[in-house]
Amino acid sequence: LYLFALAPRVGQVVEGVGQFQVASAAALRIADAERLEVERVEGAGEPGPPVAVAFREVSFAYGARPVHRAVSFAVPARGLTAFVGPSGAGKTTLLSLIERFYEPGSGCVLLDGEDVRHWPLARLRARIGYVEQDAPVLAGTLRDNLTLGTAGCPDADIARVLRLTRLDEVVARLPRGLDTAVGHRGSRLSGGERQRVAIARALLRRPGLLLLDEATSQLDAANEAALRATIAAAARDTTVLVVAHRLSTVTSADRIVVMEAGRVRAVGSHGELLARDGLYASLARTQLLTS
Ligand code: ADP
Ligand code: MG
Repeated sequence: LYLFALAPRVGQVVEGVGQFQVASAAALRIADAERLEVERVEGAGEPGPPVAVAFREVSFAYGARPVHRAVSFAVPARGLTAFVGPSGAGKTTLLSLIERFYEPGSGCVLLDGEDVRHWPLARLRARIGYVEQDAPVLAGTLRDNLTLGTAGCPDADIARVLRLTRLDEVVARLPRGLDTAVGHRGSRLSGGERQRVAIARALLRRPGLLLLDEATSQLDAANEAALRATIAAAARDTTVLVVAHRLSTVTSADRIVVMEAGRVRAVGSHGELLARDGLYASLARTQLLTS
């Protein structure tokens, strides 16, 4: 039995079915402009084994606009890797290449040593949990928003991710709990709550690879600390890549990749980079790792 599932990149259009098209290096978006994707996901909700990620000399351009220039790095299965660097460095695009929303002009993206071009898209997307920058929350109930992509998941699993994202407290305050409608684009939730819904949705799918793009930028300090612990715990079983905006997220990462103008400048631990990368040191000094 196939479960129809909305992928984590869910766009503004709620109705309608986006068809995948695999575009080549011309850098067309694979998803439609509204980024609504409906996929057939087998066995969603099964914990996926952790996925190793490598970029090998990846170059990528949006049309005539070059973004990545010979980007190479390798991340083993499990652990937390943070990507930092100025706005426009190509961090978000890098995550899009992993999800195969775009394909590199040259070089390749390897997951578990296999070129993502050889992964069936449904399998690829089923293994990845992606919380994009400004991840959308849709109209419908909180439950609908959480179980997108995980039809038929047990209440115990929902309760677990609610606790992990501290949404249990929010749900307890809502008039109809999980079955409360969240309003157009989640307008009845705060920005930080919407971000936690997006993270909870991704965690519920138990991905082998979790991609978080500035996913906690709107959380207050207490929730940010709680989510940092949740993400660190997830990284014990899952490969977690975060585009990080706060020094606190980054210092505890197993490795940090510093990007600038589409290149990898340096890779190392917080301590190593402070000592030998001027850009990192200055970003760390201002506590502002992306702008
Ligand atoms: P970051 O996440 O590090 O801020 P992005 O990956 O979003 O960087 O963007 C890298 C570069 O690509 C920027 O110059 C940005 O303006 C450009 N860019 C991003 N998305 C698109 C797009 N869909 N079409 C054209 N250019 C884009
Ligand atoms: Mg970005």
